[in-house]
Amino acid sequence: MEHHTCLIIGSGPAGYTAAVYAARAGLKPVLYTGVLMGGQLTQTTEVENYPGYPNGVQGPAMMQDFYNQALRMGTDIRFGYVTSVDFSQTPHQVIIDETTTITADAVIIATGASAKWLGMESEARLNGYGVSACAVCDGFFYKGMNVALVGGGDTACEEALYLAKLCPKVYMLVRSDKMRASQVMQERVKDDPNIEILWHTETVEILGDNQVTGVRVRNRQSGEENTLAVDGFFVAIGHQPNTAIFEGQITLDEEGYIITKAGSSYTNIAGVFACGDAQDKIYRQAVTAAGSGCMAALDAERWLSHQAYLAKQA
Ligand code: NDP
Repeated sequence: MEHHTCLIIGSGPAGYTAAVYAARAGLKPVLYTGVLMGGQLTQTTEVENYPGYPNGVQGPAMMQDFYNQALRMGTDIRFGYVTSVDFSQTPHQVIIDETTTITADAVIIATGASAKWLGMESEARLNGYGVSACAVCDGFFYKGMNVALVGGGDTACEEALYLAKLCPKVYMLVRSDKMRASQVMQERVKDDPNIEILWHTETVEILGDNQVTGVRVRNRQSGEENTLAVDGFFVAIGHQPNTAIFEGQITLDEEGYIITKAGSSYTNIAGVFACGDAQDKIYRQAVTAAGSGCMAALDAERWLSHQAYLAKQA
């Protein structure tokens, strides 16, 4: 059976950064990319808030840079999907594509999260062309324009408040008569003069050929339909951490996020570390994911050194 010192699962900013640090520390990391090689950023267009790119960069191009850097440092990058894990034994077992079993002393989980989408054709077609699931990433492009945002949780409120600083009108589409967000966030949204909450409102269709020009909405109580003239459409109905394969193996919170020891990447299982959006529901930025990937590689390197020291003493 193939064995490695350090196995990294995931190829977003967290996974590739962990790979750069692990490779430079001599851990000879093997990284499995998952299906969406490069992660969520490959589905965005321009990224303007990642330090080091003064003129901005396209999301896919940035992830190609991450890939190139991890590769140049000596990471063994493989296209494959981890379908199950067994962390009950050491070394830890990881099954790739349901067929190949690999063991590793240290496993770094960087499987990320996926934005939830409404699932409509117009949403998929205009994704990156006015449709976005990240106001902090893309809001700036709509400065001075009107936008709509769907959702009523804390994420939606945060994003609406962020957009309201840039946009004269933010329509917040809430499908029922209540929000799930904390009271304080609801109050802040209601108090913001640039935000108009449309209750009982669902999205019928996002309008536009190559760029969003409006959104057709329906009041679920009256059945009345209206068109809102907007240039941007933000979906903020939650994220799903990509952690289903770790259920029962490591401790997850009630929403499926991996619980790490405060200020570190340590999970409850020795030798298993987590970084990026799989364990972060607050910040969810490329740069914070990359930072936590660095932490995971440093934690793994120190943990492995300590294990080697203990083995020598025995
Ligand atoms: P939530 O699950 O809390 O909220 C999702 C929202 O989207 C709800 O209003 C829900 O409506 C709505 N929604 C879901 N599906 C659809 C749909 N198909 N069409 C229209 N609306 C839809 O997700 P969040 O991402 O907001 O928050 C996740 C967790 O992260 C929460 O625990 C939150 O508190 C936390 N969080 C904390 C932050 C912080 O502390 N700073 C920041 C952001 C999030 P409905 O209620 O009708 O189902």
